[in-house]
Amino acid sequence: MRLWIKDPIAILAEHAGSGIVVEDGIIVELVPSGKKPMLPVEQTFDASRHVITPGLVNTHHHFYQTLTRAHPDAINKELFPWLRALYPVWAKVLTPDAFRVATRLALTELMLSGCTTASDHHYVFPEGLENAIDIQAEEAERVGLRMTVTRGSMNLSQKDGGLPPDAVVQDEDTILADCERVLSRYHDRRKGSKLQVALAPCSPFSVTSSLMRQTAELAESHDCQLHTHLGETHDEDSFCLEKLGRRPVDYLEDCGWLTNRTWLAHGIHFNDDEVRRLGHACVGICHCPTSNMVLGSGQCRTKELEAAGCSVGLGVDGSASNDNSNLMEGVRHALMLNRLTYDPASVTHLDAFRWGTEGSARCLGRNDIGAIRTGMMADLAFYTLDDLRFSGSGDPLAALVLCGAHHADRVMIHGDWTVTDGQPVTVDVERLRKEHGEAAKRALEAV
Ligand code: ZN
Repeated sequence: MRLWIKDPIAILAEHAGSGIVVEDGIIVELVPSGKKPMLPVEQTFDASRHVITPGLVNTHHHFYQTLTRAHPDAINKELFPWLRALYPVWAKVLTPDAFRVATRLALTELMLSGCTTASDHHYVFPEGLENAIDIQAEEAERVGLRMTVTRGSMNLSQKDGGLPPDAVVQDEDTILADCERVLSRYHDRRKGSKLQVALAPCSPFSVTSSLMRQTAELAESHDCQLHTHLGETHDEDSFCLEKLGRRPVDYLEDCGWLTNRTWLAHGIHFNDDEVRRLGHACVGICHCPTSNMVLGSGQCRTKELEAAGCSVGLGVDGSASNDNSNLMEGVRHALMLNRLTYDPASVTHLDAFRWGTEGSARCLGRNDIGAIRTGMMADLAFYTLDDLRFSGSGDPLAALVLCGAHHADRVMIHGDWTVTDGQPVTVDVERLRKEHGEAAKRALEAV
């Protein structure tokens, strides 16, 4: 069945002023202003209340952290003390049931902000939560989002000179065996795939170089992406120099990670030579503006990284350092934070949207999502300008960012409506709020 999404207020696409035609989950035609579709259509959706963007793509998150937002022991700290405060909490709160409802909540929250593809960096596998990735795969299907699940890992605990406590790490053999298992079970590389797997050792201060190297080899043999935290803080630089004798990018290169399979969370503290080498290797950078501001981590060199050849995407980062999962707010924060680094003419709302859509898609190794073009998947976010905050606005696409849209009225994923009238189609929000609140309370009481 062909659906004409007709006459939006504005759309983030070229030559589509009168909308687009969607068939079998794919954008099959762009309709220029004042024209009608060339193909016959069976259905029409009147989009005259909507500004349409490609569905946003989130490239870094930690869904489980929705259970520990604004945690009193962790607020107002930089990354390392923040992590030391939360590791023991996470080791105890993550039961399978709590993890499932945390995942559902993060996916739903992201989707309501206009996100259609999400990646989650899950690296905490306490006893009993060995099937965390399976839970995420089930919940992504239930909520309706396209997802890259990442099988994260930590195997360098305090006793071996790392940062995390023993209770939250696994051994190398267990990690690699489970990576193989989830890749074989869930990794779908086909066009339009709704579920892919990436491998994601957590950070230089929580995994061994042996695990980094073997993970890169596994990614090569299974044709999947690689992800890790890098360049987030000066503390990380000091750790790498002290314990590894190298700066983080040198360490990454030595581990075989300077490839276009890799996308890095944060990527803040790189010097000119490192920016050049990362760009030459086409490494992706997930810019996390909200988290970087909350933890006071620094400002990502987005423009230099892009100019050097890196794909730059956006991530909300975990819900204990954001402390929400609103990617449209992340687009706004990217614009604001980057205007402290660059001048206003150099960073526009279109840059911020590019990072949150096409740039993010490239980080995930995808060329079938992230833009409204013929042949791309029909993943779309629809915003209205009905709230008071938009009244009097001129440029509709700029208004979404500058006036601060944070709630999609409708969302389409793979041609299916997953949000209508601001509500998710498959999730009971009130019930979710109650279940998640209770799970978080129970979990924190147990600590
Ligand atoms: Zn993170």
